[in-house]
Amino acid sequence: MDCVENYKNIKKTLPENVLLLAVSKTKPAEEIQRLYDFGCRDFGENKVQELSKKYEVLPKDIRWHQIGHLQTNKIKYIIPFVYMIHSIDSLKLAEEVNKQAQKHGRIVNCLLQIKVAQEETKFGFSPEELTDLFKNNAFAALKNIKLCGLMAMATNTDDENEVLKEFSEVKNLYNSLRINYPIGEEFKEISMGMSEDYPIAVKEGSTIVRLGSVIFGERDYSQQSGNV
Ligand SMILES: *Cc1c(COP(=O)(O)O)cnc(C)c1O
Repeated sequence: MDCVENYKNIKKTLPENVLLLAVSKTKPAEEIQRLYDFGCRDFGENKVQELSKKYEVLPKDIRWHQIGHLQTNKIKYIIPFVYMIHSIDSLKLAEEVNKQAQKHGRIVNCLLQIKVAQEETKFGFSPEELTDLFKNNAFAALKNIKLCGLMAMATNTDDENEVLKEFSEVKNLYNSLRINYPIGEEFKEISMGMSEDYPIAVKEGSTIVRLGSVIFGERDYSQQSGNV
């Protein structure tokens, strides 16, 4: 399994406007460096501690994406350098990220995570909840976060129709927000699609696919440090 070969081959199959985000959680810095040397600059991690450690040792022009659930007390560790947070799943989290970003004089790119999957464990706003927040202009005062779009995970299932239905729900929500509310041009990303389902996500209008195992191989979670 060679991550550079895999990355190259997958990239060839994607439309030009779709970002291939390499999800490097549990993988060593050396592998990230190899992909970096090939030209990849966007990497995704889901644990704050692991992300911070990798940031320390790897090239500083990497765009680091926080893709996993973020606890409010951990925000401060990644705010100085994180490129995009995909996992804004409550208004309270958005407010806390905004506060920390203000402290650091930054404007941080954020995606709003939508819960469309059947599974109980997935975080995120329901489409109705998010629509209400836009109706009430709830994000307007948060000047230090830039809302760049939506993020979602589909149910982990072999039922392609279910996955398709969930991705298209996200796309419809995106379109409806764009039509009904004064949202800027920067609200243009739909981050959806993982190793098992990204071809469906791309068909449904994804602009960022988050791929781990199809690039790096299966993960060994015993290598991941700390439950943070
Ligand atoms: C781990 C992870 C991915 C990548 O998963 P693969 O199935 O290995 O591609 C994508 N998105 C999120 C939020 C993840 O936690």
